[in-house]
Amino acid sequence: MTPKIFTIESPERLKQLPPYLFAEVDRRKRELIAQGKDVVDLGVGDPDLPTPDFIIEALLEGVKNPANHRYALDAGMPEFRKSIQQWFQTRFGYTADLNTEILPLLGSKEGIAHLPLALINPGDVALIPDPGYPVYRSGTLFAGGVPYVMPLLEANGFLPDLGAIPDDVLKKARIMFINYPNNPTSAVATKEFYQEVVDFARKNDIMIISDAAYSEVVYDGYTAPSILQIPGAKEVAVELHSLSKTFNMTGWRVGFAIGNPDIIKLLAKVKSNCDSGIFGAVQWAAKRALDDGHDWCKKNLLIYQTRRDLFVSGMKNMGWSIEAPKATFYCWIPVPPGSTSAELCLRFLTDLNIVVTPGNGFGPNGEGYFRVSLTYPDHRIEEALKRIASTHKHPHK
Ligand SMILES: *Cc1c(COP(=O)(O)O)cnc(C)c1O
Repeated sequence: MTPKIFTIESPERLKQLPPYLFAEVDRRKRELIAQGKDVVDLGVGDPDLPTPDFIIEALLEGVKNPANHRYALDAGMPEFRKSIQQWFQTRFGYTADLNTEILPLLGSKEGIAHLPLALINPGDVALIPDPGYPVYRSGTLFAGGVPYVMPLLEANGFLPDLGAIPDDVLKKARIMFINYPNNPTSAVATKEFYQEVVDFARKNDIMIISDAAYSEVVYDGYTAPSILQIPGAKEVAVELHSLSKTFNMTGWRVGFAIGNPDIIKLLAKVKSNCDSGIFGAVQWAAKRALDDGHDWCKKNLLIYQTRRDLFVSGMKNMGWSIEAPKATFYCWIPVPPGSTSAELCLRFLTDLNIVVTPGNGFGPNGEGYFRVSLTYPDHRIEEALKRIASTHKHPHK
């Protein structure tokens, strides 16, 4: 008798996921580096600079406290929640209830991934922006939900056209993801847009998940609003915030959900069955960041602003059609006529050894654009500009 061969196959749930965005670019990048090429990587949006010392010092204090060596409370440390409440109150003028409207997260990605499990039944529709952060789709699919794409078009300022969503979709829609300041387009939303979203949500019985991971990465005196500043928003919305991009803390895994108490309660229920809270020392450090980070943050933003100005003016001088972003550390640039996003990115990589991200990696509506991340030092941006200048004079003329 031949022995049965044991095979492990991907379940349908995982087969539905689109291929990992950066996999192919990553593979080619590693090949070039292995060949000894000097690759300028403007691809991934992950701050290059270290977490500031005042936050690291708080972490060290927290590590030395034995109370933090035990399981953290699911609801987060009361002191951390208090700091979130105060930070949010100062920043947006909204006072969240300490016990029912604030939930610390292991990064906002964790909240995005778990919210569909907390909020929808299999077959329910989730409205997701396209181009957009890939986890809106995968989180929905894990929960058995059906993603419905809201195209973000340049003609609408990269805001979704709520009036274009068909009635039969609306009937099944339970949640909507929105994300401003936006990754990848760097678009920002006004309070008027948030008002429209809140009215729409209340009318159609849809819960809103507002991903505000870039709310503090802003330039030229611009401040990003919160959806919770809209009267009545609390009835329908939860907002996700993150310390990752604001304080160079992507590796630490800390953020929070704030807003509707029923949504917070359901999310907490899912989380209590998945994780056991955030390491207390990390919460202690995150508290310090929110309490004392304001001035450091302002200085840090000037670094991105300088890089942005360097890159945008360099590209403009070569004839590229490009706008200086008001927020986020991304430039979202139209691909010159004659090639697809993927073709342009492959050419940048092969001919110039520059990594940029093809727009269609964020969804079909990202086709025709590519994304450049400014999380790299000035001299690397200058090097990239020099290489682009060598072959791409007047691409849009
Ligand atoms: C980076 C990013 C996140 C995730 O941030 P974490 O808090 O580190 O999980 C969420 N949403 C968007 C749009 C992002 O770009």
